[in-house]
Amino acid sequence: MEAARLALVRLIPGPELSLTDIFREICRTAANTVGVNRVGIWFLVDERTALRCSVLYERDIDEFSEGTTLSEADFPAYFAALENRRSIPAKRATSNESTHELSAAYLYPLNISSMLDAPIFENGEVIGVVCHEHSGMPREWTLEDRDFAATVSDAISLKIKAAALIEARSALRKHSEITLALNKAESLARLAAGAAHDFRNLLTIILGCAGEIQRTKHLPDDIREMAKQIIEAGERGAALTREMTNYGEREAESPRVVNLTEITDGVVPLLRTAVGPKHQIQFERGALVGKTFIDPIQYERVLMNLVVNARDAMPSGGEISVSIATVDCREAGRSGKYTMLGVSDTGVGMDVQNQSRIFDPYFTTKPRGKGTGLGLAVVKRIVDRAGGSIDVTSAVDHGTTIRVYFPRIACDA
Ligand code: ADP
Ligand code: MG
Repeated sequence: MEAARLALVRLIPGPELSLTDIFREICRTAANTVGVNRVGIWFLVDERTALRCSVLYERDIDEFSEGTTLSEADFPAYFAALENRRSIPAKRATSNESTHELSAAYLYPLNISSMLDAPIFENGEVIGVVCHEHSGMPREWTLEDRDFAATVSDAISLKIKAAALIEARSALRKHSEITLALNKAESLARLAAGAAHDFRNLLTIILGCAGEIQRTKHLPDDIREMAKQIIEAGERGAALTREMTNYGEREAESPRVVNLTEITDGVVPLLRTAVGPKHQIQFERGALVGKTFIDPIQYERVLMNLVVNARDAMPSGGEISVSIATVDCREAGRSGKYTMLGVSDTGVGMDVQNQSRIFDPYFTTKPRGKGTGLGLAVVKRIVDRAGGSIDVTSAVDHGTTIRVYFPRIACDA
């Protein structure tokens, strides 16, 4: 028994040893040490009205099973004994006051003659029981047996605590890793914004000089062409730095109560001009979409970025559908009413791997000089701050739908 006690103490839950493995090992050790046929660990479930077997070990076949349930309604005296006893030694289980109810349904069919049960406690409350079940001639339980059964039940509750502690620690570690990564991303973005700002000043000079060259009379054609290329590249660079600055700098926002249908109505004509004649924009205006709390300029950025991405996904043209509608919690996967902005295209689509990265800053699949990879990172930040969420549906060559859900704070007056 001494060796078994030591073995129980040494079982520590961890990555290689799950709590279930530990329970199995405890059952096996207990069965061998006490010398019984079966040892089971049961836990109270269904608001303490039932016991479910978590692990059962059968020594003669050296096998484990689980899952049987006993309910309080059928065995009230046994459930009461669990609350009042440190251990329940029953030499003749079929006539013992605490266990006799189990006779017909459990003891006779399983050929159990004697039982030694010890409730399992957590913070002073019974949470289950460990059962040592003996077959054959009725067996007298010694004080040593009873002590050992209590040790087994204490070991079980200690292991449960240890496993919970390990889980809490790893959750904490994960949490601090995420916080660290977020802080890093944010300081990186700020660094990039600072560098972008300085770089834009340099670009201004480059663009100014290249413009001067282009305006000079009597230039050889190739020089003029080069000046034109410098200007084009410089302008692309300037556009990129603008986005980097926007991403890094927390510009002042002024969120207020707005109607997204109205704002979208106002922006769609501009978007039509922006995407050009090869792409059509269909706007489906939902009735009574209610009011949302957001900075309208930020909302326009969201819409603009989604529409531009939809256009880029259909290089040879096509239709972009923009829609606004009210949806209830179930569709949004959250509680309450939401105003949904949907932008769909029938373009190239994305595989699952790319879908998982599209909100990462600087993730882009577009050729050098075309994409910045910041559009959706900006969208995500704006939506997060508005308390909303984003849902992406896409399939390669079958287009993409992005749905943004904004909390609806009021209905239409
Ligand atoms: P960018 O447009 O500059 O590449 P975004 O952050 O806007 O940066 O988008 C990141 C990437 O997500 C794109 O490069 C593209 O691969 C993918 N993506 C975004 N929207 C769509 C879309 N509507 N269809 C297909 N791919 C898309
Ligand atoms: Mg984009």
